[in-house]
Formats: sequence, C-alpha cells, structure tokens
Amino acid sequence: MSILDSIKEKINEANSILILTHENPDGDAIGSSLGFMHGLRKLDKNVDVFIPVKNRMYNFLPGFDEIKEELSEDAEYDLCISLDSSDLERLGTFGRPWFEKIKNTVVIDHHITNQNFGDVNYVNAVASSTCQNIIVVLAALDVAINKDMATCIYSGMLTDTGGFRYNVQPETFEFVAMLLETGIDIAKIYRNLFDLTTEKRTRLLGRALIRLELLEEGRIAFTYTTAEDDDELGIEDGDHEGIVNCGRNIEGVEVSIFLREKDGGYKASLRSNEYVDVSRIAAKYAGGGHLRASGFELKMSFEQAKDLIISEIKSQLKD
Ligand code: 5GP
Ligand code: MN
Repeated sequence: MSILDSIKEKINEANSILILTHENPDGDAIGSSLGFMHGLRKLDKNVDVFIPVKNRMYNFLPGFDEIKEELSEDAEYDLCISLDSSDLERLGTFGRPWFEKIKNTVVIDHHITNQNFGDVNYVNAVASSTCQNIIVVLAALDVAINKDMATCIYSGMLTDTGGFRYNVQPETFEFVAMLLETGIDIAKIYRNLFDLTTEKRTRLLGRALIRLELLEEGRIAFTYTTAEDDDELGIEDGDHEGIVNCGRNIEGVEVSIFLREKDGGYKASLRSNEYVDVSRIAAKYAGGGHLRASGFELKMSFEQAKDLIISEIKSQLKD
C-alpha cells in the first residue's frame, strides 16, 4: 500500500482527530494545521487543532479562533496527526504527550531532518512547505480545496518559501494556480504576513538593530534580545520573528545570527545566504531546520552561546 493510501485508511478509520504542530509555530505550521482541519471536517471528522501558544499574527486565518490552547486531560482521539514537526521533541512539552498517548499516528512534513516518528510518515522534503504536502494529501482524500482551506495553505507556502524565493519547484506554482482559483485574497494575505506589524515589535527590532555587530570582515551579522526587552515591551511569542533577516540582508553577510534570551538560556536563529549549511550547526546542538534557515536552543551564558555559534560558523566560512 502506498503511504498516501495508508494515510487515507488511518483517516477513514478515525472519527476524532487531533492535529499537532511544532513549538513557536510559524505560518506553515499554523496554515497547514488549519487548512487540514477544514479539509478533514469535509469528511465529517471531529477535528481539534491544539497549539498551546498561538501566535496572534495569524489571527486573520479562517478557523484561528477555534484553535485550542488547552485540552482537557480526559479528551480522547482516535488519531493524532503531526504537521510540520521534524521530531517528537519539537511538538513541545504540551503537544508531545498527546502524540505519545493517542494510538494511531500520522506525520506529514517537509523537513529533511524528519525522524519518521509516526505509524505512517509522509515526508516529502523536496516540497516547498508542509502546506504543499497537505494539498497532495487532500487530493488523495478526494477533498476539494475551498477558499478557507486555500487561504490557510497559501499562507504557509508563502511564508515558508520567503515569498516564493526558496525551495520552490515548478509544481509549487501549479499548486498556487489551483489555490487562486478558489478566490483567495492574496493582497490581504501578503499584508497580514509580511507588512503588518505592531508598535512593540517595531521597538524590539529597534533594540536589536542598535546592538547589531558585523564580524569576520562583515560576513557574519550578530544581534540579540534579552528577557528584559521582552518584559519592558510586553513581547509575546512570535514577536521575534523576522529580526534575523535584517542582518542577512546586509551586503556581504553570509550568515546572520539572532539570539533571544528564553527560559534562562538562548534560542538561536541562523540564516545563511549562499553556502554555509546552517542545518548542520543546528543538528549538532539538537535543533533543526533547513540549509539556509535553522534554529536551536543553548542552555548556557550569553557569552558562551555567542562564542560557540560564531566559532561554528567561522569554521564553515570560505577564506
Ligand atoms: P526560526 O529561526 O525561524 O525559529 O527557525 C528556522 C527553521 O529552523 C524553521 O524551519 C524551524 O522549524 C527550525 N527550527 C528552529 N528552532 C528549532 C529547534 O529547536 N528544533 C528543530 N528541530 N527545528 C528548529
Ligand atoms: Mn515548514
């Protein structure tokens, strides 16, 4: 039986389905979860999406208000589906126990680092996004994609490809053409995802920009934010997204590093432009991601974290 047939069988046999995604969910995580939720409901399934900390930035997506931030302990599901998460750990402290508890599991993802931790695993790492894989799965389930599903799915494809720049295949645009047929408002989606911001996010970015350092003849950009910044500005999860790109956009920079103080340690975001494989560095420190965008956590002091990442990157810089 093909993987898609196995997924179809799992879904056909289930009445209640729980969808989980990774911590610090991004556009692809939330878009695929909501897009798939709408799709599975067309098959008359009871579907919950559980995201313990949902990023307000995506509140324009249809179904956002239905996301559950808490689940009652005695809730029961026939099937658990993990979307856009490369491993169990990445489902987070609250999501992971549900995946482990529910008897039947399916994993749908596009991370090359995926550990195939479900009963059935559909991992197409060539695809632009998990959302793109969701389109294929919905087709296998004979679910026609409507405007609500398309809005969610398009949002994930748009964000995970950095505005259709990275990991784009010819079929990515064929899928997009199909989504546009449903009448989605791409100008509105674009503004919500790329332009709209808040005062506190802008002020946080300002602090990060003031601290920006250029190292190794301008080939490494480094900056950070502290827990104090988050307190003073009332920063929420997700508000740090995008800061790392400012360093990456500077002429001559190959790798941009952004450190964010979190839970007594540091969360690192790395972005490269042309040749440094940042997924390799992330994998070494129990993180993950892609060739040009990765992340991981370091439980150490600021100076130690900074020195360690810079020396890892230096060893990959060309002379
Ligand atoms: P970001 O820097 O935006 O948080 O993440 C960049 C990429 O790395 C995304 O694909 C994200 O899913 C992945 N990533 C970030 N942090 C982690 C982590 O701690 N573990 C894993 N497995 N992947 C991560
Ligand atoms: Mn993704």
